[in-house]
Amino acid sequence: MMNFCNRCAGALSEEVPEGDNRPRHVCQECEHIQYQNPRVIVGCIPLWEGKILLCKRNIEPKFGLWTLPAGFLELGETMAEGALRETYEESMAKVEIVEHFGMYDITRVGQIYSIYLAKMLSADFSPTPESSEVGLFDPEDIPWDELAFEVIKTTLKEFIERG
Ligand SMILES: [Zn+2]
Repeated sequence: MMNFCNRCAGALSEEVPEGDNRPRHVCQECEHIQYQNPRVIVGCIPLWEGKILLCKRNIEPKFGLWTLPAGFLELGETMAEGALRETYEESMAKVEIVEHFGMYDITRVGQIYSIYLAKMLSADFSPTPESSEVGLFDPEDIPWDELAFEVIKTTLKEFIERG
């Protein structure tokens, strides 16, 4: 939710600009239109000897539930670079990309989820400020009822189906 213009700090109001077809946040002072667009989340399915590395979230939302390492893409990095960085930040695991696995629209929250298949370079990983636990799971041991996000469930199901 935006209240102030990021150019002049003027008040924003929601209106349909001339020539546009949907409401935007428009500055009442300088007329700057502050567009909002989906954000990109990047992450990995890190693999080690047939097992999948999952992280238990130590942060909200979904504190205490398991997820794949993933997070917001930063300006200036490629999706693959972001996926490697997020994987390291959340699990201390060093991985290399095998291939792009999939992209998922999460229109409800304005996100695009881009996931890579990745090979762990060693069995080293550990908890981090963002993950209270990190663990390798056999596909049959995935904690389906304790996954943080629907898209993670979808990704893991697809991974297993593809064999
Ligand atoms: Zn302004």
